[in-house]
Amino acid sequence: MIFYPDEALFCRHTGEYGEKKQRNQGEKASSIPTEHSYESSSDMFQNLGAVFARAQKILEPVALDLAQREAECIIEHVCNIPRKKLYTQKELLIDKNSINIIDTLLNKRLTGMPLAYALGEGYFYSQQFYLSPEVLIPRPDTETIIEAILEQEPSQKQLFLDICTGSGNIATVLCRERPTWSAFACDISMASLKIAKKNCPFSVRLFCGDMITAIHHSTTFDFIVSNPPYLSKAEMTALDPSVSQWEPQQALFGGDDGLAYYRILAQSCQQILKKNGRLYCEIGYNQFESCRDLFVKAGWSDVCLYKDLGGRTRVVQVQKS
Ligand code: GLN
Repeated sequence: MIFYPDEALFCRHTGEYGEKKQRNQGEKASSIPTEHSYESSSDMFQNLGAVFARAQKILEPVALDLAQREAECIIEHVCNIPRKKLYTQKELLIDKNSINIIDTLLNKRLTGMPLAYALGEGYFYSQQFYLSPEVLIPRPDTETIIEAILEQEPSQKQLFLDICTGSGNIATVLCRERPTWSAFACDISMASLKIAKKNCPFSVRLFCGDMITAIHHSTTFDFIVSNPPYLSKAEMTALDPSVSQWEPQQALFGGDDGLAYYRILAQSCQQILKKNGRLYCEIGYNQFESCRDLFVKAGWSDVCLYKDLGGRTRVVQVQKS
């Protein structure tokens, strides 16, 4: 909570973030390890400039070059202050309760927990999503599949299926960008579906099951999208600890060669697609040739690829023949 010095006890919290604030206020503040401790944490108020500078310093060992950005996110999240005010209104007073919440988040981050999990939220395609360690943190790379679908699919009413929905990010963004569309979204993990339920609009219906097993065979879709687990055994062993120790292995590991789920998609999706319906899959940067071959072998036609901003092939599109 912030107080403006010249507007005593003026509280900027509105009902808008009521749920988020309740959740934060319920968190028990714990102290920062001594080498990173706030100098005057017994003060009732501290000014914003000092809180921001200290948060950055505390984050440096774990967030490195991103310390400033992460400090901005934490203070913005707790205090509900637009980022630019961190630089222009350094004299704002931050109350002790908010400082305690900031401390709790800094402590979580110092354990190596990714910022998105510490905050319980992150962004995908400029939209905010609830997140927890039960779901993958949506990656900017995945925006390539969103662009491909928005470009290819007609904007009128469509029913699509999102396989391995995780946080529900893909289905949610597509339904928000195209309000006439609706979706079924499935995932093997019930824990991830609980997060997806918080994120998805009513136009997305959630199902629990392995790949398409929860989808009735008489349902047919205009198109299907999937960002399945696609890391190989070798890639899993080379992961950065911030991923391997925190993100769900089940959502990352695609079998020994990383292609296990593409084989299932290639074999199972034609039966639930409408005539000429397309399947869009995110793929690893080195998987295009193998994916193309296995989809063609399974009888799909019109293989197309889409590249990410770095010029790497990250989406394969195939059509029911
Ligand atoms: N659909 C989610 C994402 O793209 C989750 C993907 C997954 O769990 N493999 O981030």
